[in-house]
Amino acid sequence: MEDFAAALDAARRHTDAWLASLPERPVPPQATTEQVMAALGTTLPPSPRPPEDTVELLGQEGARGLNAMAAGRFFGFVIGGSHPAALAADWLSTAWDQNSGLRDLTPTHTAVEDLASSWLLELLGLPAESAVGFTTGATMANFTGLVTGRDEVLRRSGWDAARRGLAGGPPVRVLVGEERHVSVDVALRYAGLGEPQTVAVDVQGLMRPDALAQALADGGPGSTLVVLQAGNIHSGGSDPFPALCSMAHDHGAWVHVDGAFGLWAAASPTHAHLVDGVHGADSWATDAHKTLNVPYDCGLVVVRDEAALQASMGVTGAYLIRDESCQPVDKVPELSRRGRAFSVWATLHSLGRSGVVELVDRLCAHARSFAAAVADIPGAEVVNEVVFTQVCVRFGSDARTRQVVAAVLEDGTTWMSGSTWQGRAVLRISVSNWATSQEDVRLSLAAVRRAVEELDDVP
Ligand SMILES: *Cc1c(COP(=O)(O)O)cnc(C)c1O
Repeated sequence: MEDFAAALDAARRHTDAWLASLPERPVPPQATTEQVMAALGTTLPPSPRPPEDTVELLGQEGARGLNAMAAGRFFGFVIGGSHPAALAADWLSTAWDQNSGLRDLTPTHTAVEDLASSWLLELLGLPAESAVGFTTGATMANFTGLVTGRDEVLRRSGWDAARRGLAGGPPVRVLVGEERHVSVDVALRYAGLGEPQTVAVDVQGLMRPDALAQALADGGPGSTLVVLQAGNIHSGGSDPFPALCSMAHDHGAWVHVDGAFGLWAAASPTHAHLVDGVHGADSWATDAHKTLNVPYDCGLVVVRDEAALQASMGVTGAYLIRDESCQPVDKVPELSRRGRAFSVWATLHSLGRSGVVELVDRLCAHARSFAAAVADIPGAEVVNEVVFTQVCVRFGSDARTRQVVAAVLEDGTTWMSGSTWQGRAVLRISVSNWATSQEDVRLSLAAVRRAVEELDDVP
C-alpha cells in the first residue's frame, strides 16, 4: 500500500502542477525529444528502484516536452481537453482496472456503460434501439461501423463473409465524399475494401445529392456502402442527410456516418439543424475525446441493428463466462479493454443535459468570435461558412498564409494547424476544448494579429 501511496502522491503533485501551468504556459513543447530522452536517462536501469522515484523523474523531466493540448489556447486538429469529472473518473478507472468486456464480470462498469449509452442516444437523437460500442477513437468506430455494414450488405446478397471471407464473394462498392476524413480510408483498408469511389462535394465540402444519385445509378445494383460525414474538418459543415440517406436506402445501401466531432451538433437545439436527418443512417462513429472532452482514448460506435453488430464483432469462447445477450465485447474489435465508460458517464452526469448543450453552443460561439475578429485583420479572409466549430483563414497567397501559420506557432501563445483545403493553404482554427475562455480567444487573436503585422512586408 505504501508503494502506491508514494507513487500516487507524486503523480498527484505533478498533475496539479501541470493543470496549474496550463493557463500561462506556452502551448508548444519547450523541449525536444532528444532533450527529454537525455533528461530521463537512456540506459535501461539495471535494477529496481522505488516507483515514486520513477514517477517523480517522469513528472519533473517530462513536463517540458509536453504540448499543452489541454490548454484553452490550443486550436489544432480537433483535440478537446479533459473535463474535471472525466479526468478524475479516468483516474478511478485506472485504479479500479476493470476489464470491461463482459457484463457479469463488472456490474459497476456495465451499469455505467448502459446508462451512458442510453443518455448518448438521447442527446444525439439516434434510434433508441441502437447498440453502442466504446472504441479507442473514431477511427476504430468507423472501422466497426463499416465492417458491420460490409457484412450486412453481403449477407443480403447471400454471402456469409464471417464464414467465407471476402475472396470469391460479390464485390462491395464504397461511395465516400471527396472530403471524407482520412480515417475512413484507413478503416476501409483494414476492412479489406480497398480504395473507395469518391462522390463530388459542394464548396463547403458536403456531398452533393445529384452526384450521389449519379454514382448509385452508374454502379448498378449490388452491395453498396455509402459513407457520409457530420462535421467536415475544414468547414465544420455536415452532409445533407435526408436526401442522401433516402436515395442510398432506396438503392439497398448501408449508410455509415463519420461524425467524430460534428455529430454533437445534434445535442444543441440551436445547432441540431446542421445534422438534420442524421438519425436516418444505419451506423455512426463519433468521439468522446473531442467535443465531449473526456481524456484519450475514447470513441463511440452506434449501430441501429444490434444483431448485425454482434454478427460482425461478436466473440464466443468456452472460457468466456457469458450468455447469448450482446455483451460490451461484442460491439468493438477489442477483447480486453479498459473501463472507458466511466469517464463518459461522469462527464454526462456532471454536465447534465443543459451542460452538454451549453458546451456545444460555447464552442460554436468561440468559433464565430474568431471568424468575426479575424475577418477584421487586414488581408485576412475567412474562407468557410462558419456554422460549427471550425474556422479556415487565408492571408493572401499560399506562401503568406504558411508564413502566418509559422509565425503564430513561433509566438507560442496559441497552437493552430496549418492545412490545405481545396488546393489552398489555410490557417485552421478548431475550437473543441471545454476550458477555452473568451480571454483565451482574445489572447489567441492578438497572437494572430501580431504574426500578420510582423510579416507585413512579405508579398
Ligand atoms: C478525429 C476525426 C476522426 C478520427 O478520430 P480518432 O479519434 O482520431 O481516431 C475521424 N473523422 C473525423 C471527422 C475526425 O475529426
